[in-house]
Amino acid sequence: MVGHVLEKKSFRSKGKSSSLVLTPIEVSGYEKVIEVTDVTVGLSALIAIHDTTLGPALGGTRIFPYAKKEDALEDVLRLSKGMTYKASVAGVGFGGGKSVIIADPKTDKTPELLMAFGAAVDRLKGAYICAEDVGTTTEDVKIIRRTTQYVVGLPHESSSGDPAHFTAWGVFRGIQSVVKELFGTDSVAGKTIAIQGTGSVGSLLAGYLFWAGADLIVSDINAASAQKCAKKYGAKVVSPDEILKVSCDVLAPCALGGILNHHTIPGLRCKAIAGATNNQLRSDADMDLLQAKGILYAPDFVINAGGLLNVSFEIDPSGYNPKASRAKCHEIYDTLLAIYAVAKEQKITTHKAALFVAEDRIRRKIGKRSVSPVFHHSAEI
Ligand code: NAD
Repeated sequence: MVGHVLEKKSFRSKGKSSSLVLTPIEVSGYEKVIEVTDVTVGLSALIAIHDTTLGPALGGTRIFPYAKKEDALEDVLRLSKGMTYKASVAGVGFGGGKSVIIADPKTDKTPELLMAFGAAVDRLKGAYICAEDVGTTTEDVKIIRRTTQYVVGLPHESSSGDPAHFTAWGVFRGIQSVVKELFGTDSVAGKTIAIQGTGSVGSLLAGYLFWAGADLIVSDINAASAQKCAKKYGAKVVSPDEILKVSCDVLAPCALGGILNHHTIPGLRCKAIAGATNNQLRSDADMDLLQAKGILYAPDFVINAGGLLNVSFEIDPSGYNPKASRAKCHEIYDTLLAIYAVAKEQKITTHKAALFVAEDRIRRKIGKRSVSPVFHHSAEI
């Protein structure tokens, strides 16, 4: 990796002068990786643009107290590449990007820090578009918007709002796809679905499944959250240790990544896995373990694209249209069925089939953005 100073410039924000430095880092296989520092406000961040063949790179801004800069780099590289695949299969005309700010979101997040980060994003002139992620909120994105227009996912009045509804609906459609594949019908009525995590997405998903007639088992490390969901939807509550071992038709992970691994897979008693969690598989080899157990897996970056699909509509030249967004989320069902078909035809896992489809679309420039994004929101929000 070779780095050198790209530009050094002072800018003024809220009466304070700050010194923003963008330093490119060469990383093989990535279009652009930039280290961002601003000593005045204590900003240390990384922006990774993995691939922009299909459109500008889009991906959230994560704030996390990484122990080492190397850990932050590893995370931003992995996440930005994941965004390339996710955006490609979703057909949203975006490439893959991500940013991480090395800081504790509880103690270090100041308006000055966020605005300095926004100024760095602005210097990239739209090659990277940021959004909320772990450690950031829509309120933080509003602050970043003061120094750059290249943001999506602002609060509803000026933007597409909370993505969780669309993500949950996409996951519901994904659950219908695995049920169709296994039982020949897309009806979840009478099927047992186990939901790990009753947070934003998990609780909304529980509602959609309840009204479609499913029987639910739920779990959350926040016992009150699981109980609340159970009371509302007549679900059975199990402990966080039990949820991955319960007998069910579909397991829907809606909590934290890495939960499908060589420790947990032997104990699984589900027929399919279809949930919102990012990076559910700890490694590619874990997919082979799932396959060997005969468990159908809906690839996470395909089934959980509802939020991404939703924000993609807010930069549409004609403005945000929730009905168009809903229609695209609905298509997640067909996209997944097509991926299962590719997996069967090529005798590969569904995870590999999804990667194959993503790479093929990039190679053939399918879904390439034809109109420039239009940012309808203003800085005075
Ligand atoms: P959230 O933080 O609102 O909810 C996560 C829930 O999981 C919390 O209630 C938490 O207490 C619970 N949890 C954590 N560890 C657990 C464990 N071991 N067992 C049981 N419960 C546990 O997050 P969210 O927005 O609902 O997102 C859920 C997952 O979906 C995350 O992995 C997220 O990255 C992914 N995702 C979310 C969106 C979105 O639109 N919010 C989009 C794409 C992917």
